[in-house]
This record gives sequence, structure tokens and C-alpha cells, in this order.
Amino acid sequence: MQKNLKCLNSEPLLSAWRIINENAKGFVFIIDENNVLKGIITDGDIRRFMLEGGNINEAVRNVVSDKFVYADEDATADELLKMVNHRIKVVPVVDKDFKLKDYFEYKSDFRIPVAQPELNGNELKYLTDALLSTWISSSGHYLNRFEQEFSNYIGTEYGLAVSNGTVALQLALLALDIGKGDEVIVPDLTFAATINAVLYTGATPVIVDIEEQSWCIDPDEIKKAITEKTKAVIPVHLYGQPADMDKIMKIADEYNLGVIEDAAEAHGAKYNGKRAGSFGDISCFSFFGNKVITTGEGGMCLTDNAELLEKMKILKNHGMSKSKKYWHDVVGYNFRMTNLQAAVGVAQLERIDTILREKQKIEDNYKSALGNIEEIIFQSEITGRNKIIWLVSALVKERRDEFIDFMQSEGIDIRPMFYPLSEMPVYKDYTYSNHNSRKLSKMGINFPTNSAVNQKVYDKVSRLCRDFFNYK
Ligand SMILES: *Cc1c(COP(=O)(O)O)cnc(C)c1O
Repeated sequence: MQKNLKCLNSEPLLSAWRIINENAKGFVFIIDENNVLKGIITDGDIRRFMLEGGNINEAVRNVVSDKFVYADEDATADELLKMVNHRIKVVPVVDKDFKLKDYFEYKSDFRIPVAQPELNGNELKYLTDALLSTWISSSGHYLNRFEQEFSNYIGTEYGLAVSNGTVALQLALLALDIGKGDEVIVPDLTFAATINAVLYTGATPVIVDIEEQSWCIDPDEIKKAITEKTKAVIPVHLYGQPADMDKIMKIADEYNLGVIEDAAEAHGAKYNGKRAGSFGDISCFSFFGNKVITTGEGGMCLTDNAELLEKMKILKNHGMSKSKKYWHDVVGYNFRMTNLQAAVGVAQLERIDTILREKQKIEDNYKSALGNIEEIIFQSEITGRNKIIWLVSALVKERRDEFIDFMQSEGIDIRPMFYPLSEMPVYKDYTYSNHNSRKLSKMGINFPTNSAVNQKVYDKVSRLCRDFFNYK
């Protein structure tokens, strides 16, 4: 046993503090002259003692608590593991005379983040190539390639790269001439960018409820919320699950509404064999760092409509006339992506099927690790819809928040699902319906979904979940 882990109980607290400072462990065992264990003191204990007006020269024996966790010499590794929890990470081991022999320290210092980009393909090569070519700004052949290859992949005629997914939505709305006085229907459960983009245009968002099974916008609720002012609807393919596009397109036809798909979380998902993002008038993707593929920041608008494409091209580039340089017919924006970002995007796109396959494997593995824990319900598989895994998503039937805190304290970055827009003061006045979204968002979680998640992590998550929900 390391030397500087013990302190005599006759010593002043200051000595214990010095030892902790030296050993950099955050704790010290307190013993008497015969090496009999008297307790354990942590730097937190000393801090609390001092904050309550304690004296640093007080003898350790007057400060140390006689209630502490310890193990016998013959304890098995399994028994030791059961003694640790989110507060107790160190267990002293004593012989039959209660002399300190050893200790067990549980380290959960490896942290598993929720998402991490995969950049181990041609990203660096293409980025270097773009850099050396000096085409580092908003034109260049990687931009053309990225637009063509991504729109090909999703199955649309045209692609237009932009600076992020939020402005992709804004640009799509502007191209459909949506502005003040118009209403745009959005789902209650989504990332806030969906509704923010509507608000930027001056139009009024109308928040409607989601389907219980898919967590995506409910077509029946869309229909009910339509008024004379309704101009468009933005279905979101949430957490990789496609919205019910057949029903939505039918309603849009009937009421003459524009459809903008928010596919920021669903690169590659399919609905009746067609890719999400190939149904609406315009679809919008994000290539933010935590999305299925990334360009750092970035986004794209896809469409089959050449007229809409032309409009978006002009609006994206300051509204400048195509035929007359520095002549502006409309007030435009700078929503451009750089060739450097597109270079990363092209390399990412080369590997998208592999990335998606690996993500699917992660869900499969969580499912087999947690299969018989009935408090955890994984995202549904729905006939006719092929969801992709962006982040492995599930509902927790009870004590969701407590579960997240517990997993976080053990280094597993479990995240809560989005809050319903209708619950936030800035958006709640736009609410039409929100029954399912309120219920489900309180239960939803995302598991870490990246290549650092290995069998050790599945085992750990499985053990922690079994602990938490009292499974043997
Ligand atoms: C990420 C995301 C966006 C916004 O994308 P950014 O590139 O971050 O602007 C929009 N909608 C949804 C549903 C998203 O998840």
C-alpha cells in the first residue's frame, strides 16, 4: 500500500490535509498507533469542517466519523463492487483485528460523451487539398460535389449548401414567400431551430402535438390546426424516425400548403422506400458536429423545383442579381458554406452508410444489454418507416430525471429528450395541441451513441441500469 495514504488520529487536521495534498487522491485513511483503522477523511470533509468554523489544528480523532464503509480481507471483487455507489468510491480493507491492509478504489473517470464526430476517412486529405488550392471561401469544386452528391444520396434534383441547418429552414421558408401574417405548423417536440426559423421570417408558428408511437408530428393534428392563414407545415423526422409523409403530403395537397421537411436528424432514413428529405417542396439538413455526418457547422436545402432553387441561391448570397453584379432586387442574406466545410462533407458522405451501420449496431447492442429491463422502452420500429440511428433514443417509464443524474454521476452522458416547445415561455403562446409531447418528453432519453461505446460500456450501462431498477 502506498505510504502517504495514512494519518495518525492524534495528528492535527492540518497533517491530514497535507497528506491529501501530497497523494492527490482526495482522501486519507485515519489509523491509530497500531494501524487499526479509525475512519477515512476526504478533502470535502475538511472543506465542510472549515466552512462550519472548525479549527485546522483540531485533532483528527475529534473530526473523523466512526461510520464508514469497509470490507474484510476475504471480500470478493463482486462484493467490493456492490459497496461503491455514486458517493462512496473508496473502500478500506481490514484484517480480523481491524488493521488497515489495503483498499479498493472504483474509478469511473472515463467519460462517455453522447456524440462524437467520426473523421477518420478522407476528411483531412480533402480539407488539405481545398486549403492548398486556395479555394477556401464560398465557391470551389468541393461545394459543387457536396451539393450534387448529397442531393443524389437523398434522391432530389438539387442541393444548395448553406452555413447551418437553421438558416436552411429560414431560407426554405423565404423561398416559399412566407412572412408576416402567415401561419406555419410545427411539431411540439423538436429542437428549437424549427420554430425559431419560422419566427425569423415574421410568420406565426402553430405548435401541434406528436404521434405517440413515432414521436413525430401528428397528421390529424395538422389538419385540425389549419386556418385560412396556414401556408406551410414543417414535419421533423425526429431522432431519425420519419414523419408520416404520405398523410402529410395528402393534407398539404388538399389545403395547398408548402411542405418543408426538417431532416436535420434523419440523414438516410426511409419512408416507404424513399429517403426522408425527398418528399416536401424543400427539405433541410444540418451538418452540425453532433449530427449523422458533419461539416463542423453546415446545412443544405434540397429540392426538385428549379424555380425554388434559383430563389434560394439569390437569397443566400445577399440577394444579388444574377445578371447584374452588385445590383440587389431583394434584401438577401449571407448563408454561404465554405469550400473547406464542403471538403469535410464530401469525405463524410463517402462513409455515411458505414456510419449509419455502426450507429445501428450501437442500438442493437444497447437493446441486448438492457433487453429485459422493462422500465426502458426503445424507440419504435414502424412498418413502412426505416428510421436511422442518430442518437439511441428510449423512454424511461419511471424516475427519468433521477436515472439521468445517476448515470451522469457514473460518467455515462445520458441526455434528456428535448423539452416540448409549448412548455417554454418564449413559445407557449403559439400552442395548438401538446398532449403526447408533454407526456413523452418527460420520459425520453438519449444514450451515448459514438464509436467510443464498446462492450465495456454496454456492460457498465447494463450493470448500472440493473442496479437502478433493482434487477438481479
Ligand atoms: C440540429 C437541428 C437543427 C439545426 O441545425 P443547426 O445546423 O444546428 O443550425 C434544426 N432542426 C433540428 C430538428 C435539429 O436537430
